[in-house]
Amino acid sequence: MPSDFIFSAPEAPAVAIAGHDQVFPVRRIFCVGRNYAAHAAEMGNEVDREAPFYFTKSAHALCPSGATIAYPPGTRDCHHEMEFVVAIGQPAFRMSEAEAPAAIWGFGCGIDLTRRDLQGAAKEKRRPWDLGKDFENAAVLAPLSPVKDFGQIGAQEIRLEQNGRTVQRAVLSDMVWSVPEIIAHLSGYYHLLPGDLIYTGTPAGVGPVQSGDVLTGTVDGLTPVELTIGDAE
Ligand code: MN
Repeated sequence: MPSDFIFSAPEAPAVAIAGHDQVFPVRRIFCVGRNYAAHAAEMGNEVDREAPFYFTKSAHALCPSGATIAYPPGTRDCHHEMEFVVAIGQPAFRMSEAEAPAAIWGFGCGIDLTRRDLQGAAKEKRRPWDLGKDFENAAVLAPLSPVKDFGQIGAQEIRLEQNGRTVQRAVLSDMVWSVPEIIAHLSGYYHLLPGDLIYTGTPAGVGPVQSGDVLTGTVDGLTPVELTIGDAE
């Protein structure tokens, strides 16, 4: 690899690790669509029981927990989507569900910020979702915790508070596609590698954010994710 870049190479995206000085370098961000039946229903969709589906965000869309961000440009309907995030720590290619847990480094609380109006327009015209999903600060992520500190995925509650009011609430076992199922499926299409993240979908209760909002998202056993929405630029 050449080292004489014509301008400074972009900083490697990374996310904090709870209670540690070291950070987790982020490679790719995969996101699962419609993974809670109640959310699929509120969006006017049915869950596809055939297979999960995905979209991606650039690793440069990461936003650290605790940030205040400008209300995103180009939208009048930016939504919060609280999500349980899986951090891959071992290579995974064509993994079985039984093997999949070995590929996981840990977990985190994330928010998939979505320009819902742009996503909706794209859906209508059968165009890609990039403008609605992949934009600066759209992948908010709290410090990660290793698997051993979290334990089995199951009855943990996932919740989002908007200005202190609970707007999203479910348990992780409500996911249509379990984390091992997602890894087994996704690893049939990609060589998953350490640093890859999977946002596993959002429960019902998504809705618009406004300037001045404070979002706090929790999953039992993980460090909460926090975000403040500032004025538009
Ligand atoms: Mn989402």
